[in-house]
Amino acid sequence: MNPSVGATGLIFNEPLLWEKGARGRCGFSLPRRDVAAAPLNESLQGEGPDFPDLSELEVTRHFTRLSQWNFGVESGMYPLGSCTMKYNPKTNDRQAALPGMAGIHPLLPIELSQGALQLIYDLERYLAEITGMDAVSVQPAAGSQGELAGMLIFSAYHQSLGRPRTKVLIPDTAHGTNPASAALCGFKAVPVKSNEQGVLSPEVVADLMDEDTAGIMITNPNTLGIFEENIRQVAEIVHARGGLVYGDGANMNAIMGIVNLKAIGVDVMHLNLHKTFSTPHGGGGPGSGPVCVVEKLAPFLPVPRVVKKDETYRLVEDMPQSIGKLHAFYGNFGIQVRAYSYILSLGALLKKVSQFAVLSANYIKARLKGVYHLAYDQPCMHECVFSDKLLEPYKISTLDVAKRLMEMGFHPPTIYFPLVVHGAIMIEPTESESKEDLDHFIDAMIRIAEEAREHPDKLHAAPTVTKVRRLDETGAARNPCLSGR
Ligand SMILES: *Cc1c(COP(=O)(O)O)cnc(C)c1O
Repeated sequence: MNPSVGATGLIFNEPLLWEKGARGRCGFSLPRRDVAAAPLNESLQGEGPDFPDLSELEVTRHFTRLSQWNFGVESGMYPLGSCTMKYNPKTNDRQAALPGMAGIHPLLPIELSQGALQLIYDLERYLAEITGMDAVSVQPAAGSQGELAGMLIFSAYHQSLGRPRTKVLIPDTAHGTNPASAALCGFKAVPVKSNEQGVLSPEVVADLMDEDTAGIMITNPNTLGIFEENIRQVAEIVHARGGLVYGDGANMNAIMGIVNLKAIGVDVMHLNLHKTFSTPHGGGGPGSGPVCVVEKLAPFLPVPRVVKKDETYRLVEDMPQSIGKLHAFYGNFGIQVRAYSYILSLGALLKKVSQFAVLSANYIKARLKGVYHLAYDQPCMHECVFSDKLLEPYKISTLDVAKRLMEMGFHPPTIYFPLVVHGAIMIEPTESESKEDLDHFIDAMIRIAEEAREHPDKLHAAPTVTKVRRLDETGAARNPCLSGR
Protein backbone atom coordinates (compact mmCIF):
# COMPACT_ATOMS: atom_id res chain seq x y z
CA MET A 1 0.00 0.00 0.00
CA ASN A 2 1.15 3.54 -0.70
CA PRO A 3 2.22 5.50 2.36
CA SER A 4 -0.38 8.08 3.27
CA VAL A 5 0.54 11.74 2.97
CA GLY A 6 -0.34 12.06 6.65
CA ALA A 7 -0.85 15.11 8.80
CA THR A 8 1.75 15.03 11.52
CA GLY A 9 4.35 17.74 11.88
CA LEU A 10 4.97 21.00 13.58
CA ILE A 11 2.01 23.34 13.84
CA PHE A 12 2.81 26.62 15.60
CA ASN A 13 0.46 28.17 18.09
CA GLU A 14 -0.31 31.77 17.33
CA PRO A 15 -2.24 34.26 19.46
CA LEU A 16 -4.22 37.25 18.18
CA LEU A 17 -2.14 40.28 17.17
CA TRP A 18 -3.61 42.17 20.17
CA GLU A 19 -2.11 39.60 22.48
CA LYS A 20 1.38 40.09 20.99
CA GLY A 21 3.88 42.95 20.92
CA ALA A 22 4.47 45.71 23.45
CA ARG A 23 3.58 49.42 23.71
CA GLY A 24 5.90 51.52 21.59
CA ARG A 25 7.25 48.68 19.49
CA CYS A 26 7.08 49.37 15.77
CA GLY A 27 7.83 47.76 12.46
CA PHE A 28 9.49 50.68 10.76
CA SER A 29 11.58 53.54 12.18
CA LEU A 30 10.63 56.94 10.80
CA PRO A 31 13.14 59.81 10.95
CA ARG A 32 12.88 61.94 14.12
CA ARG A 33 10.12 64.51 13.54
CA ASP A 34 11.01 68.19 13.37
CA VAL A 35 7.44 69.56 13.69
CA ALA A 36 4.96 69.50 16.55
CA ALA A 37 2.86 66.35 16.91
CA ALA A 38 -0.73 66.74 15.71
CA PRO A 39 -3.62 64.28 16.01
CA LEU A 40 -4.59 62.49 12.80
CA ASN A 41 -8.17 63.61 13.22
CA GLU A 42 -9.15 66.51 15.52
CA SER A 43 -12.46 64.96 16.51
CA LEU A 44 -10.74 61.82 17.82
CA GLN A 45 -8.78 63.92 20.38
CA GLY A 46 -5.79 61.60 20.14
CA GLU A 47 -8.02 58.55 20.66
CA GLY A 48 -6.91 56.63 17.56
CA PRO A 49 -7.91 53.04 16.83
CA ASP A 50 -6.45 50.50 19.22
CA PHE A 51 -3.85 49.02 16.89
CA PRO A 52 -1.35 46.64 18.48
CA ASP A 53 2.31 47.77 18.49
CA LEU A 54 4.37 45.08 16.75
CA SER A 55 7.78 44.56 15.17
CA GLU A 56 8.10 43.57 11.53
CA LEU A 57 9.17 40.04 12.47
CA GLU A 58 6.18 39.58 14.77
CA VAL A 59 3.83 40.56 11.93
CA THR A 60 5.60 38.35 9.41
CA ARG A 61 5.56 35.33 11.72
CA HIS A 62 1.94 35.94 12.60
CA PHE A 63 0.71 35.75 9.04
CA THR A 64 3.12 33.03 7.98
CA ARG A 65 1.93 30.83 10.86
CA LEU A 66 -1.70 31.49 10.13
CA SER A 67 -1.11 30.63 6.47
CA GLN A 68 0.29 27.27 7.60
CA TRP A 69 -2.94 26.44 9.38
CA ASN A 70 -4.63 26.58 6.03
CA PHE A 71 -5.11 23.75 3.59
CA GLY A 72 -5.20 24.39 -0.13
CA VAL A 73 -4.82 22.46 -3.34
CA GLU A 74 -1.16 23.47 -3.21
CA SER A 75 -0.73 21.54 0.05
CA GLY A 76 -2.67 18.43 -0.87
CA MET A 77 -5.59 16.86 -2.69
CA TYR A 78 -8.81 18.79 -2.25
CA PRO A 79 -11.59 16.60 -3.67
CA LEU A 80 -14.43 18.86 -2.54
CA GLY A 81 -17.38 17.87 -4.74
CA SER A 82 -19.23 20.59 -6.64
CA CYS A 83 -16.38 23.05 -6.03
CA THR A 84 -13.75 22.14 -8.68
CA MET A 85 -10.77 22.77 -6.40
CA LYS A 86 -8.26 22.20 -9.16
CA TYR A 87 -4.75 23.53 -9.47
CA ASN A 88 -4.63 26.98 -11.04
CA PRO A 89 -1.43 27.50 -13.04
CA LYS A 90 0.70 30.34 -11.68
CA THR A 91 1.07 31.98 -15.08
CA ASN A 92 -2.56 33.08 -14.92
CA ASP A 93 -2.03 34.85 -11.58
CA ARG A 94 1.07 36.40 -13.07
CA GLN A 95 -0.79 37.88 -16.05
CA ALA A 96 -3.44 39.31 -13.71
CA ALA A 97 -0.69 40.91 -11.62
CA LEU A 98 0.97 42.72 -14.56
CA PRO A 99 0.95 46.43 -13.71
CA GLY A 100 -1.20 47.25 -16.76
CA MET A 101 -3.82 44.73 -15.59
CA ALA A 102 -3.69 45.12 -11.81
CA GLY A 103 -3.27 48.90 -11.87
CA ILE A 104 -5.83 49.91 -14.47
CA HIS A 105 -8.58 52.15 -13.12
CA PRO A 106 -12.17 51.60 -14.25
CA LEU A 107 -12.73 55.35 -14.59
CA LEU A 108 -9.97 55.80 -17.17
CA PRO A 109 -11.30 57.23 -20.42
CA ILE A 110 -12.22 54.71 -23.11
CA GLU A 111 -9.21 55.68 -25.28
CA LEU A 112 -6.88 54.61 -22.48
CA SER A 113 -8.75 51.37 -21.71
CA GLN A 114 -8.80 49.76 -25.15
CA GLY A 115 -6.63 46.81 -24.09
CA ALA A 116 -8.79 45.96 -21.09
CA LEU A 117 -12.00 46.34 -23.10
CA GLN A 118 -10.62 44.14 -25.85
CA LEU A 119 -9.75 41.49 -23.25
CA ILE A 120 -13.31 41.55 -21.90
CA TYR A 121 -14.77 41.52 -25.42
CA ASP A 122 -12.58 38.60 -26.55
CA LEU A 123 -13.18 36.67 -23.32
CA GLU A 124 -16.94 36.95 -23.86
CA ARG A 125 -16.50 35.64 -27.42
CA TYR A 126 -14.36 32.72 -26.19
CA LEU A 127 -16.89 31.79 -23.53
CA ALA A 128 -19.65 31.95 -26.15
CA GLU A 129 -17.66 29.56 -28.30
CA ILE A 130 -16.89 27.18 -25.41
CA THR A 131 -20.55 26.97 -24.36
CA GLY A 132 -22.15 27.28 -27.80
CA MET A 133 -24.21 30.25 -26.61
CA ASP A 134 -24.60 33.50 -28.61
CA ALA A 135 -23.91 36.37 -26.17
CA VAL A 136 -22.16 36.66 -22.82
CA SER A 137 -21.76 39.21 -20.04
CA VAL A 138 -18.90 38.65 -17.62
CA GLN A 139 -20.33 41.19 -15.16
CA PRO A 140 -21.82 38.90 -12.43
CA ALA A 141 -19.42 38.33 -9.54
CA ALA A 142 -20.33 34.74 -8.58
CA GLY A 143 -22.09 31.68 -9.90
CA SER A 144 -25.09 32.51 -7.77
CA GLN A 145 -25.13 36.08 -9.09
CA GLY A 146 -25.04 34.66 -12.64
CA GLU A 147 -28.12 32.63 -11.66
CA LEU A 148 -29.77 35.78 -10.32
CA ALA A 149 -29.00 37.49 -13.65
CA GLY A 150 -30.52 34.49 -15.44
CA MET A 151 -33.70 34.58 -13.36
CA LEU A 152 -34.02 38.35 -13.90
CA ILE A 153 -33.71 37.62 -17.64
CA PHE A 154 -36.43 34.93 -17.37
CA SER A 155 -38.66 37.48 -15.68
CA ALA A 156 -37.86 40.33 -18.13
CA TYR A 157 -38.43 38.04 -21.12
CA HIS A 158 -41.89 36.93 -20.00
CA GLN A 159 -42.80 40.50 -19.10
CA SER A 160 -41.70 41.67 -22.55
CA LEU A 161 -44.25 39.23 -24.00
CA GLY A 162 -46.91 40.76 -21.79
CA ARG A 163 -47.57 37.64 -19.71
CA PRO A 164 -45.46 37.42 -16.54
CA ARG A 165 -45.11 33.91 -15.10
CA THR A 166 -44.86 32.91 -11.45
CA LYS A 167 -43.09 29.54 -11.08
CA VAL A 168 -39.77 27.89 -11.95
CA LEU A 169 -39.20 24.11 -11.99
CA ILE A 170 -36.13 22.97 -10.04
CA PRO A 171 -34.97 19.32 -10.01
CA ASP A 172 -34.01 17.78 -6.66
CA THR A 173 -30.49 17.31 -8.06
CA ALA A 174 -30.00 21.05 -8.64
CA HIS A 175 -27.45 23.07 -6.70
CA GLY A 176 -28.90 24.73 -3.59
CA THR A 177 -28.35 28.20 -5.00
CA ASN A 178 -30.84 27.51 -7.83
CA PRO A 179 -34.07 27.65 -5.79
CA ALA A 180 -32.62 30.57 -3.82
CA SER A 181 -31.99 32.57 -7.00
CA ALA A 182 -35.45 31.80 -8.35
CA ALA A 183 -37.06 32.83 -5.05
CA LEU A 184 -35.03 36.06 -4.93
CA CYS A 185 -36.65 37.04 -8.25
CA GLY A 186 -40.11 36.37 -6.85
CA PHE A 187 -40.61 32.99 -8.51
CA LYS A 188 -42.08 30.04 -6.65
CA ALA A 189 -39.58 27.17 -6.84
CA VAL A 190 -41.40 23.93 -7.80
CA PRO A 191 -39.33 20.82 -6.96
CA VAL A 192 -39.03 18.11 -9.63
CA LYS A 193 -38.16 14.57 -8.55
CA SER A 194 -35.43 12.85 -10.52
CA ASN A 195 -35.76 9.17 -11.47
CA GLU A 196 -33.90 6.02 -10.29
CA GLN A 197 -31.05 6.82 -12.68
CA GLY A 198 -30.60 10.17 -10.93
CA VAL A 199 -31.77 12.24 -13.91
CA LEU A 200 -34.92 14.06 -15.03
CA SER A 201 -37.76 12.13 -16.64
CA PRO A 202 -39.43 14.03 -19.50
CA GLU A 203 -42.88 12.74 -18.34
CA VAL A 204 -42.46 14.24 -14.88
CA VAL A 205 -41.48 17.60 -16.36
CA ALA A 206 -44.42 17.42 -18.82
CA ASP A 207 -46.81 16.94 -15.89
CA LEU A 208 -45.53 20.02 -14.07
CA MET A 209 -44.85 22.42 -16.96
CA ASP A 210 -47.72 24.83 -17.50
CA GLU A 211 -48.39 28.35 -18.79
CA ASP A 212 -47.66 29.89 -15.37
CA THR A 213 -44.20 28.37 -15.31
CA ALA A 214 -41.37 30.62 -16.52
CA GLY A 215 -39.07 27.67 -17.19
CA ILE A 216 -36.74 25.15 -15.62
CA MET A 217 -33.29 25.42 -13.99
CA ILE A 218 -31.14 22.39 -14.73
CA THR A 219 -27.72 21.78 -13.21
CA ASN A 220 -25.92 19.75 -15.88
CA PRO A 221 -23.99 17.63 -15.07
CA ASN A 222 -26.22 17.53 -11.99
CA THR A 223 -25.08 17.42 -8.38
CA LEU A 224 -24.94 13.61 -8.50
CA GLY A 225 -22.22 14.03 -11.12
CA ILE A 226 -24.55 12.56 -13.75
CA PHE A 227 -25.25 14.02 -17.18
CA GLU A 228 -28.92 14.89 -17.74
CA GLU A 229 -29.32 12.66 -20.77
CA ASN A 230 -32.95 13.63 -21.37
CA ILE A 231 -32.23 17.33 -21.47
CA ARG A 232 -33.21 17.74 -25.14
CA GLN A 233 -36.68 16.25 -24.60
CA VAL A 234 -37.09 18.22 -21.38
CA ALA A 235 -36.14 21.42 -23.22
CA GLU A 236 -38.63 20.66 -26.01
CA ILE A 237 -41.44 20.23 -23.48
CA VAL A 238 -40.55 23.47 -21.69
CA HIS A 239 -40.17 25.43 -24.95
CA ALA A 240 -43.45 24.07 -26.35
CA ARG A 241 -45.25 25.68 -23.40
CA GLY A 242 -43.49 29.00 -23.82
CA GLY A 243 -40.91 28.47 -21.06
CA LEU A 244 -37.14 28.97 -20.99
CA VAL A 245 -34.38 26.55 -19.99
CA TYR A 246 -31.70 27.69 -17.54
CA GLY A 247 -28.47 25.68 -17.46
CA ASP A 248 -26.38 25.88 -14.31
CA GLY A 249 -22.92 25.62 -15.91
CA ALA A 250 -20.86 25.62 -12.71
CA ASN A 251 -19.89 22.04 -13.57
CA MET A 252 -18.50 23.04 -16.98
CA ASN A 253 -15.21 21.40 -15.98
CA ALA A 254 -16.80 18.10 -17.04
CA ILE A 255 -17.97 19.10 -20.51
CA MET A 256 -15.66 21.72 -22.04
CA GLY A 257 -15.25 21.21 -25.78
CA ILE A 258 -17.68 18.29 -25.59
CA VAL A 259 -21.21 19.68 -25.09
CA ASN A 260 -22.80 22.57 -26.98
CA LEU A 261 -25.30 23.91 -24.47
CA LYS A 262 -27.40 25.81 -27.00
CA ALA A 263 -27.74 22.70 -29.15
CA ILE A 264 -29.20 20.74 -26.22
CA GLY A 265 -31.82 23.41 -25.58
CA VAL A 266 -30.34 25.77 -23.00
CA ASP A 267 -31.44 29.43 -23.33
CA VAL A 268 -29.57 31.02 -20.42
CA MET A 269 -26.67 29.69 -18.36
CA HIS A 270 -23.88 30.81 -16.11
CA LEU A 271 -20.27 29.73 -15.77
CA ASN A 272 -18.03 29.85 -12.71
CA LEU A 273 -14.74 31.31 -13.91
CA HIS A 274 -13.31 30.79 -10.42
CA LYS A 275 -14.04 27.06 -10.63
CA THR A 276 -13.43 26.05 -14.23
CA PHE A 277 -11.19 28.83 -15.54
CA SER A 278 -8.34 29.19 -13.07
CA THR A 279 -8.94 31.42 -10.10
CA PRO A 280 -7.95 30.18 -6.64
CA HIS A 281 -11.18 30.07 -4.62
CA GLY A 282 -12.65 28.77 -1.43
CA GLY A 283 -11.81 31.78 0.73
CA GLY A 284 -15.02 33.60 -0.09
CA GLY A 285 -14.15 35.44 -3.26
CA PRO A 286 -13.85 37.46 -5.37
CA GLY A 287 -15.41 35.37 -8.11
CA SER A 288 -16.88 35.67 -11.56
CA GLY A 289 -20.10 34.09 -12.86
CA PRO A 290 -20.61 35.13 -16.50
CA VAL A 291 -24.16 34.83 -17.81
CA CYS A 292 -24.50 33.40 -21.34
CA VAL A 293 -27.66 33.62 -23.48
CA VAL A 294 -29.12 32.75 -26.88
CA GLU A 295 -29.58 35.55 -29.42
CA LYS A 296 -33.19 36.42 -28.57
CA LEU A 297 -32.26 37.08 -24.92
CA ALA A 298 -29.18 39.23 -25.63
CA PRO A 299 -31.13 42.53 -25.26
CA PHE A 300 -31.78 41.62 -21.60
CA LEU A 301 -28.12 41.19 -20.58
CA PRO A 302 -26.73 43.48 -17.84
CA VAL A 303 -25.29 46.87 -18.83
CA PRO A 304 -22.81 48.19 -19.72
CA ARG A 305 -22.01 45.93 -22.67
CA VAL A 306 -18.62 46.01 -24.36
CA VAL A 307 -19.14 46.46 -28.11
CA LYS A 308 -16.70 46.80 -30.97
CA LYS A 309 -17.34 49.42 -33.63
CA ASP A 310 -14.90 50.80 -36.20
CA GLU A 311 -12.00 48.95 -34.55
CA THR A 312 -12.76 50.71 -31.25
CA TYR A 313 -14.15 49.08 -28.10
CA ARG A 314 -16.90 51.03 -26.33
CA LEU A 315 -19.15 50.62 -23.32
CA VAL A 316 -22.84 50.80 -24.19
CA GLU A 317 -25.37 51.63 -21.46
CA ASP A 318 -28.35 52.36 -23.66
CA MET A 319 -30.17 49.04 -23.77
CA PRO A 320 -33.80 49.64 -22.84
CA GLN A 321 -34.62 45.97 -22.17
CA SER A 322 -31.53 45.29 -20.01
CA ILE A 323 -32.01 43.90 -16.50
CA GLY A 324 -29.63 46.69 -15.38
CA LYS A 325 -26.41 46.61 -13.42
CA LEU A 326 -25.32 43.79 -11.10
CA HIS A 327 -21.85 44.93 -10.15
CA ALA A 328 -19.73 48.07 -10.21
CA PHE A 329 -18.15 48.75 -13.61
CA TYR A 330 -17.69 45.45 -15.39
CA GLY A 331 -17.31 42.80 -12.69
CA ASN A 332 -14.10 41.41 -11.20
CA PHE A 333 -11.49 42.19 -13.84
CA GLY A 334 -8.59 40.24 -12.26
CA ILE A 335 -10.55 37.01 -12.56
CA GLN A 336 -11.44 37.78 -16.15
CA VAL A 337 -7.72 38.19 -16.91
CA ARG A 338 -6.96 34.79 -15.34
CA ALA A 339 -9.69 33.11 -17.39
CA TYR A 340 -8.50 34.80 -20.58
CA SER A 341 -4.94 33.69 -19.90
CA TYR A 342 -6.06 30.14 -19.03
CA ILE A 343 -8.15 29.79 -22.19
CA LEU A 344 -5.41 31.15 -24.44
CA SER A 345 -2.72 28.99 -22.87
CA LEU A 346 -4.75 25.79 -23.26
CA GLY A 347 -6.73 26.41 -26.45
CA ALA A 348 -8.14 23.14 -27.80
CA LEU A 349 -6.61 21.31 -24.81
CA LEU A 350 -9.57 22.52 -22.73
CA LYS A 351 -11.32 19.42 -23.99
CA LYS A 352 -8.55 17.26 -22.47
CA VAL A 353 -9.08 19.04 -19.14
CA SER A 354 -12.66 17.78 -19.08
CA GLN A 355 -11.71 14.32 -20.30
CA PHE A 356 -9.13 13.94 -17.52
CA ALA A 357 -11.51 15.33 -14.88
CA VAL A 358 -14.13 12.75 -15.90
CA LEU A 359 -11.61 9.90 -16.16
CA SER A 360 -10.24 10.62 -12.66
CA ALA A 361 -13.71 10.62 -11.10
CA ASN A 362 -14.62 7.36 -12.83
CA TYR A 363 -11.36 5.78 -11.69
CA ILE A 364 -12.13 6.63 -8.07
CA LYS A 365 -15.70 5.46 -8.48
CA ALA A 366 -14.61 2.11 -9.94
CA ARG A 367 -11.99 1.45 -7.25
CA LEU A 368 -14.15 2.43 -4.27
CA LYS A 369 -17.30 0.72 -5.49
CA GLY A 370 -18.21 -2.00 -3.01
CA VAL A 371 -15.95 -0.49 -0.35
CA TYR A 372 -18.42 2.38 -0.02
CA HIS A 373 -22.03 2.33 -1.09
CA LEU A 374 -22.42 3.90 -4.52
CA ALA A 375 -25.59 5.94 -4.60
CA TYR A 376 -26.18 5.72 -8.36
CA ASP A 377 -24.20 2.97 -10.04
CA GLN A 378 -23.49 4.27 -13.54
CA PRO A 379 -20.72 6.16 -15.31
CA CYS A 380 -20.23 9.57 -13.74
CA MET A 381 -18.96 12.88 -15.01
CA HIS A 382 -16.49 15.00 -12.99
CA GLU A 383 -17.57 13.75 -9.55
CA CYS A 384 -18.90 10.60 -7.92
CA VAL A 385 -21.23 10.28 -4.94
CA PHE A 386 -20.92 7.55 -2.30
CA SER A 387 -22.72 7.20 1.02
CA ASP A 388 -22.01 5.79 4.49
CA LYS A 389 -24.61 3.03 4.15
CA LEU A 390 -22.08 0.14 4.29
CA LEU A 391 -20.51 1.63 7.45
CA GLU A 392 -23.77 1.87 9.36
CA PRO A 393 -23.38 -1.55 11.08
CA TYR A 394 -20.18 -0.23 12.71
CA LYS A 395 -21.84 3.08 13.70
CA ILE A 396 -19.46 5.00 11.47
CA SER A 397 -20.85 8.00 9.64
CA THR A 398 -19.80 10.19 6.75
CA LEU A 399 -18.56 12.79 9.24
CA ASP A 400 -16.20 10.23 10.83
CA VAL A 401 -14.75 9.38 7.40
CA ALA A 402 -14.21 13.08 6.62
CA LYS A 403 -12.46 13.75 9.93
CA ARG A 404 -10.14 10.75 9.58
CA LEU A 405 -9.21 11.80 6.01
CA MET A 406 -7.87 15.07 7.43
CA GLU A 407 -5.36 13.15 9.55
CA MET A 408 -4.29 11.30 6.45
CA GLY A 409 -3.43 14.55 4.67
CA PHE A 410 -6.49 15.12 2.50
CA HIS A 411 -9.11 17.80 2.44
CA PRO A 412 -12.39 15.94 2.99
CA PRO A 413 -14.83 15.59 0.09
CA THR A 414 -18.14 17.44 0.20
CA ILE A 415 -20.35 15.68 2.76
CA TYR A 416 -24.12 15.43 3.30
CA PHE A 417 -24.72 17.00 -0.12
CA PRO A 418 -26.54 16.45 -2.44
CA LEU A 419 -29.53 16.03 -0.15
CA VAL A 420 -31.06 13.28 -2.33
CA VAL A 421 -28.37 10.89 -1.03
CA HIS A 422 -28.49 10.10 2.70
CA GLY A 423 -25.01 10.48 4.23
CA ALA A 424 -23.51 11.59 0.92
CA ILE A 425 -19.75 11.67 0.27
CA MET A 426 -19.22 13.62 -2.93
CA ILE A 427 -15.76 13.34 -4.49
CA GLU A 428 -14.47 15.62 -7.26
CA PRO A 429 -10.79 14.89 -7.93
CA THR A 430 -10.45 17.29 -10.93
CA GLU A 431 -7.95 16.82 -13.74
CA SER A 432 -5.04 18.04 -11.61
CA GLU A 433 -4.17 14.89 -9.66
CA SER A 434 -1.70 12.30 -10.94
CA LYS A 435 -2.54 8.61 -10.87
CA GLU A 436 -0.26 8.15 -7.82
CA ASP A 437 -2.10 10.86 -5.92
CA LEU A 438 -5.48 9.40 -6.84
CA ASP A 439 -4.20 6.03 -5.59
CA HIS A 440 -3.04 7.58 -2.30
CA PHE A 441 -6.50 8.98 -1.76
CA ILE A 442 -8.22 5.72 -2.72
CA ASP A 443 -5.93 3.75 -0.40
CA ALA A 444 -6.74 6.14 2.45
CA MET A 445 -10.46 5.65 1.83
CA ILE A 446 -10.04 1.86 1.76
CA ARG A 447 -8.04 1.98 5.00
CA ILE A 448 -10.78 4.01 6.65
CA ALA A 449 -13.37 1.42 5.63
CA GLU A 450 -11.16 -1.27 7.21
CA GLU A 451 -10.74 0.79 10.36
CA ALA A 452 -14.51 1.15 10.56
CA ARG A 453 -14.73 -2.61 10.99
CA GLU A 454 -11.63 -3.07 13.13
CA HIS A 455 -11.18 0.08 15.22
CA PRO A 456 -14.34 2.19 15.05
CA ASP A 457 -13.13 4.08 18.17
CA LYS A 458 -10.20 5.46 16.22
CA LEU A 459 -12.59 6.96 13.69
CA HIS A 460 -14.87 8.40 16.35
CA ALA A 461 -11.85 10.12 17.95
CA ALA A 462 -10.48 11.62 14.72
CA PRO A 463 -8.93 14.04 14.13
CA THR A 464 -6.29 13.87 16.84
CA VAL A 465 -3.19 15.28 15.13
CA THR A 466 -4.76 18.44 13.77
CA LYS A 467 -4.58 21.87 15.39
CA VAL A 468 -8.11 21.55 16.72
CA ARG A 469 -10.19 18.43 17.33
CA ARG A 470 -13.89 18.16 16.45
CA LEU A 471 -15.49 21.53 16.74
CA ASP A 472 -18.89 22.34 18.15
CA GLU A 473 -20.32 23.41 14.80
CA THR A 474 -23.77 24.12 16.17
CA GLY A 475 -22.27 26.25 18.93
CA ALA A 476 -20.17 28.16 16.39
CA ALA A 477 -23.25 28.90 14.30
CA ARG A 478 -25.46 29.83 17.27
CA ASN A 479 -22.90 31.91 19.18
CA PRO A 480 -20.57 33.39 16.60
CA CYS A 481 -17.60 35.39 17.92
CA LEU A 482 -17.42 38.31 15.52
CA SER A 483 -15.29 40.79 17.44
CA GLY A 484 -11.97 39.02 16.88
CA ARG A 485 -11.13 39.49 20.60
C1 LIG B 1 -20.58 26.44 -6.96
C2 LIG B 1 -21.87 26.25 -7.62
C3 LIG B 1 -22.80 27.31 -7.69
C4 LIG B 1 -22.61 28.63 -6.97
O1 LIG B 1 -21.49 29.37 -7.38
P1 LIG B 1 -20.89 30.49 -6.42
O2 LIG B 1 -19.83 31.15 -7.25
O3 LIG B 1 -20.37 29.80 -5.22
O4 LIG B 1 -22.01 31.44 -6.09
C5 LIG B 1 -23.96 27.08 -8.39
N1 LIG B 1 -24.22 25.90 -8.97
C6 LIG B 1 -23.36 24.86 -8.92
C7 LIG B 1 -23.70 23.56 -9.59
C8 LIG B 1 -22.15 25.00 -8.24
O5 LIG B 1 -21.31 23.95 -8.17
